[in-house]
Amino acid sequence: MNKWLLLILLSTPLFGAEADLQKLVDGNARYLKGHVEPKSHTQKPFAVIVACSDSRVAPEIIFDQGLGDLFVVRVAGNVVGDIEMESINYALDHLGAKVVMVMGHEYCGAVDAVKEGQVSEISAIASLIKPSIKGAKTLEAAVKANVLGVVDHLDKNIKAHIVGAYYDFETGEVEILNGKGS
Ligand SMILES: [Zn+2]
Repeated sequence: MNKWLLLILLSTPLFGAEADLQKLVDGNARYLKGHVEPKSHTQKPFAVIVACSDSRVAPEIIFDQGLGDLFVVRVAGNVVGDIEMESINYALDHLGAKVVMVMGHEYCGAVDAVKEGQVSEISAIASLIKPSIKGAKTLEAAVKANVLGVVDHLDKNIKAHIVGAYYDFETGEVEILNGKGS
């Protein structure tokens, strides 16, 4: 390959994207080999998990659950705005889930950005996190305060057993922070 062409390719932001997409295609091919067709065409998840989009926070893996077990709403900073609220309500009203867990995590980049005042790229998310974390001295305290803020918000809007939780990367443990609701 012409070295200038190679340099141009390497400096293109999307270079490598095709290889990454191929990883998904290959992964699905591996999945198909072990795939057992679900017995039911309807889903009955027993819990709703509101978690951060962080790639290290995958509820199905952390809680050792399979397909159909958890209704997962993931967004950076595990916040709940109108769109997330509608998703949660769907799981409660139509799928039979009774427990809602809001799970924050160690080293959350979204909460850290808001804590440090770097919110220009996440203004919508920051507007939901900011009121809850005022006065928090450490990132862990801010993450937990954000979780409890979301729990309070849910408690005012939905009827379910609502639990706040904190996921520790080092130990893998999910600490239950509190419970609210019915
Ligand atoms: Zn996060």
